[in-house]
Amino acid sequence: MKEYIAIERAEQCCGCGACVSACARDAITMKEDEAGFMYPAVDESLCVKCGRCKDVCVFAEKGAGANAAPQVYAAAHKNKNIQKTSSSGGLFSALAQAVLDKGGAVFGAAWAEDMTLAHICVQNEKELAKLRGSKYVQSMTGTTFREAKKMLEEGRYVCYSGTPCQIAGLKAYLGKDYENLLTVDIICHGVPSMKMLQDDLKYVAGENYSKITDVKFRDKRYGWGVKGSVRTADATLKYNAGTSPYYFYFLKGEVYRESCYHCRFPAEGRQGDITLGDYWGIRTDLIKKMGDVNPDWGISCVLVNNEKGKQWFKQCEKALTLISTDRQSVEKRNKQLTSASKPLPEHEELLQGYIRNGYAAYQSGYKKHLKDHIIRGIKNMIPPQVKRKINDILH
Ligand SMILES: Cc1cc2nc3c(=O)[nH]c(=O)nc-3n(C[C@H](O)[C@H](O)[C@H](O)COP(=O)(O)OP(=O)(O)OC[C@H]3O[C@@H](n4cnc5c(N)ncnc54)[C@H](O)[C@@H]3O)c2cc1C
Ligand code: SF4
Ligand code: SF4
Ligand code: SF4
Repeated sequence: MKEYIAIERAEQCCGCGACVSACARDAITMKEDEAGFMYPAVDESLCVKCGRCKDVCVFAEKGAGANAAPQVYAAAHKNKNIQKTSSSGGLFSALAQAVLDKGGAVFGAAWAEDMTLAHICVQNEKELAKLRGSKYVQSMTGTTFREAKKMLEEGRYVCYSGTPCQIAGLKAYLGKDYENLLTVDIICHGVPSMKMLQDDLKYVAGENYSKITDVKFRDKRYGWGVKGSVRTADATLKYNAGTSPYYFYFLKGEVYRESCYHCRFPAEGRQGDITLGDYWGIRTDLIKKMGDVNPDWGISCVLVNNEKGKQWFKQCEKALTLISTDRQSVEKRNKQLTSASKPLPEHEELLQGYIRNGYAAYQSGYKKHLKDHIIRGIKNMIPPQVKRKINDILH
């Protein structure tokens, strides 16, 4: 008889949900801890000690295997509306569309009506809009790994997108490579809990909280950066590090799941056939070589990690403005490609304060960071083209 999955230390579990999908007895559910992070809980009355949940868990103990030596590109979608409504250059939509065009299905993170975040499956262009845009909170994969497997077995093309740990979890759950599966991972530095985000939205929207219809962490009306908006039935509120303690601490790397500070993937390598991120700090000479592209609407960095990735990338090339570049220039402003996030000394105190006193701990802690608020205020006054000139000089 084998053991079922047991988490001894929080850092051992990334919440990918592979064990939940793997349990044929449906004995595992994800349960919230005091800070709102979700961990698997086993119902012993249903468990038959088959050990399958332990076998598919690749986060803490076993290497997940990885792709190496990618081809690297700077790219943006030619459709200006898609570029503007995506977080980076809109590459995800181009890849997803290529899969939909072949009658396939696409999995990714979408807001539910109650503004919680979960992975869903979409099967047409209209629904694809739900997956567009980065949501800076953990998305629950639920039973989507099972759904994806069923479609793959039926011979459908499937694109599954998510954080590296979700893609590693999916692949461990599937247990073999499927020719008809495209995996897309995003460059990821960590995720806070849904509970933290809900608390923040109550703080930001106040009595209009229940009227929230959309949260955009990256709203291109404010340029290509980390500024967003919260839409309610009556108004659109600014959502950024100046209005939201959550967003402020997210960008500082203070409020992530414990596993994110021990993330194995930056060191181990990319999990997706293709990796997408923001081409932060792209040099002006590269932008010029790309031709007709507006950098203020976002440029993606794309890592094409293996042969399958190459084939799919080729299929959406005509929708893109792109140029070949190198991994080093992407890594310069994307340290999470090489190392996991490091918690600052304030992290533990902040977390314990949140557990003891609720969101008030974030609100009061946030106000004390006067220096950060002043620096951000000054940076916000510098026009993007001047920022790019400064970046060119520095690099
Ligand atoms: C939590 C998080 C942290 C990130 N950190 C970085 C970073 O440090 N550096 C960097 O360069 N890029 C980072 N990204 C990726 C970046 O923000 C864009 O998502 C990526 O470049 C794809 O953009 P796009 O324009 O191609 O498509 P978009 O349409 O903007 O991206 C949508 C894709 O993101 C997925 N997605 C959105 N939210 C989540 C979520 N919570 N969990 C899993 N998948 C999600 C969707 O399923 C879809 O595949 C992060 C994204 C997230 C969600
Ligand atoms: S499979 Fe994923 S969710 Fe389950 S214990 Fe392992 S890391 Fe956690
Ligand atoms: S040991 Fe088997 S039955 Fe028990 S929880 Fe794990 S997968 Fe389910
Ligand atoms: S930092 Fe690592 S563990 Fe955390 S969400 Fe991203 S891939 Fe998963």
